[in-house]
Amino acid sequence: MSDASLWHTVMAALQERGWHARVVSADHLDDLRARLQRVLTSGELPDEVANEVAPKPGFRLPDDAPAPRSVVVAALGRPLTQATLTLGGTERTIPVPPHYAGYHTQPAEMVRIVAEVLAAAGHGATRFDPPLKTLAACAGLARYGRNNIAYVAGLGSYHELAACVTDAPPPADAVWGEPQVLARCMSCVACLRACPTGAIDGDRFLLRTERCLTYLNESEAPFPDWVRPEWHTCAVGCLGCQQVCPENVDPGLTVAAPEHFDERESAAILAADKNASFSAATRTKLERCGLDYSAELIARNLRAALGV
Ligand code: SF4
Ligand code: SF4
Repeated sequence: MSDASLWHTVMAALQERGWHARVVSADHLDDLRARLQRVLTSGELPDEVANEVAPKPGFRLPDDAPAPRSVVVAALGRPLTQATLTLGGTERTIPVPPHYAGYHTQPAEMVRIVAEVLAAAGHGATRFDPPLKTLAACAGLARYGRNNIAYVAGLGSYHELAACVTDAPPPADAVWGEPQVLARCMSCVACLRACPTGAIDGDRFLLRTERCLTYLNESEAPFPDWVRPEWHTCAVGCLGCQQVCPENVDPGLTVAAPEHFDERESAAILAADKNASFSAATRTKLERCGLDYSAELIARNLRAALGV
């Protein structure tokens, strides 16, 4: 099978399961690292943020990775999920933005699909976690919005990104270039107006990450005093700038049915600390709605969003 034909088969297999994908030469990984390094040393990120977004072990290729020749980056449309907690006989439903549910399982599925096709040609594929938004933007899969979120044609920002490396040679027509910004952002400020925290700055492209609720509620650090209680509306992450974005109108947001937690489960979830353990049934529901994250952080975020 020719390289072109092999990649055509990989792309078709991914597309059949809903993935939008691109493949690029692994030679560009050095450029990806350099781009990340430039942001980290630009002085535009406070130290605490720079330390958090510094290259994670996942960006180093695993020991068992095949000698990298190509990188596949892919996006899968994801739904908004919801958790309904029961407090004193009253049900309260809290949204969880797309991409939290299936955060671990969907990328594994993407790699499985790629590996299955490539195995027939004697190649392997291994998951890794580079800066996915930059990778997707340089590969032409995504464009940045003013809110620094990656938008994929047909999916808007409601998706999850995943990547893998392979020892299969890249296709001759693989592209790599400067990340592009959505053309609409030149004449739109909807997200800037909607952001409650002022994280989106009209004077610079880089998000003020230290003011973004997603950063704050994924972090273990206590919420800063300036964060107002009414800004907490999601169990983790934040949807403010995505829900007002005209680029998300056509793709639309699929909303999954809420996972229901009874009084006892809800009390345990809200009181969870680092050592929390839940029943298998509760864990399954938490996983389905994307809250199989740090139990302690989810408990803190939910208490803030529910005002309890
Ligand atoms: S809301 Fe407007 S400015 Fe913000 S990302 Fe969407 S199109 Fe761009
Ligand atoms: S995710 Fe929320 S806090 Fe962060 S930029 Fe968007 S609207 Fe602002």
